[in-house]
Amino acid sequence: MSSFLTSKLDHLVPYTPGEQPKDMKYIKLNTNESPFPTSETAQRLALEAASNLQLYSDPECRDLVNTAAEYFGVSTDQIIFTNGSDEVLNFAFMAFCENGAVFPDITYGFYSVFAKLNGVDFKEIPLKQDFSVDINDYMGVNKTVFLANPNAPTGIALGLDDIEKIVKSNPNNVVVIDEAYVDFGAESAISLINKYDNLLVTQTFSKSRSLAGGRLGFGIGSKALIRDLNTIKYSTNPYNVNSMTAAAGIGSLIDDEYIRANCEKIKENREYLVKELKKLDFTMTDSTANFIFAKHSSISGKDIYLRLKEKGVLVRYFDKERLKDYTRITIGSKEQLEVLIDKLKEIIKELL
Ligand code: PMP
Repeated sequence: MSSFLTSKLDHLVPYTPGEQPKDMKYIKLNTNESPFPTSETAQRLALEAASNLQLYSDPECRDLVNTAAEYFGVSTDQIIFTNGSDEVLNFAFMAFCENGAVFPDITYGFYSVFAKLNGVDFKEIPLKQDFSVDINDYMGVNKTVFLANPNAPTGIALGLDDIEKIVKSNPNNVVVIDEAYVDFGAESAISLINKYDNLLVTQTFSKSRSLAGGRLGFGIGSKALIRDLNTIKYSTNPYNVNSMTAAAGIGSLIDDEYIRANCEKIKENREYLVKELKKLDFTMTDSTANFIFAKHSSISGKDIYLRLKEKGVLVRYFDKERLKDYTRITIGSKEQLEVLIDKLKEIIKELL
């Protein structure tokens, strides 16, 4: 730290992104990326946009907003695009958390970082023993609620009825539902936005839409909420979505059949992985995401993670008391998962 850093940030511990080691070629099952290539239309439109980079990108992302508004059945002033959904989440912490924020103790690690960065008081509410959210903990909390649905790293989702109860019981506070993983089997709360003006739904193109490197996310909510978020966007970086990414986003929405087919493959592969891991004595949460959260009966999460890494497979391990028996494994292609299973069999042989 330099002596120039503002004192209000000198204790900030940044978010740790999933590792991307370059010492060998790994099978990457650690950052919940898609194993499938970016759609062809997305690639083509991004390339076309690349020939005009002398111009600033459109701050309103008009073409993308029009395409997405139609796709999601909302009006164009109910949606904002950002540089990954991380950015819209950060904007929400900046904009809506005067009374503080609440979120589960086990959830997306960036929430507490954003809260600290923005000087927001926050309370982490423990998940139940089985890692599920007790919705009673979020009734009328009088603070801004952040819930990943499905949650990460557990993959467990709340139903739309439960989400609605939480939104309804907090009319004076924004409820942010982070649907980064919704396309792999959970129900979206976008259908509720015209009913509740305190609901903000965020989603990303990073997972189901194979555009993690493009950095594209968005928020959908009432016009007033979106206007507030735009005030922040225009006060920080109006050109937050670059032209190539905006074009790729349109391509991805056009190629929706390809995206849906990929989501179905991920669901099939998830079923396959669950079945195979059970045979190897793993237990896991009931995930509706593109990852599973699994624990071996006698080998620690850290040992699984380290041994797999030695063998060229990356998974995510969290060095936190309640999580340390687990590893989070991204659902890759069938071929990647077959290698993972083979390596796990070797590890079990070596250690037991
Ligand atoms: N929410 C959750 C729960 C996530 O796991 C992630 C991915 N790390 C994000 C949001 C942000 O994803 P992105 O910025 O790539 O849209």
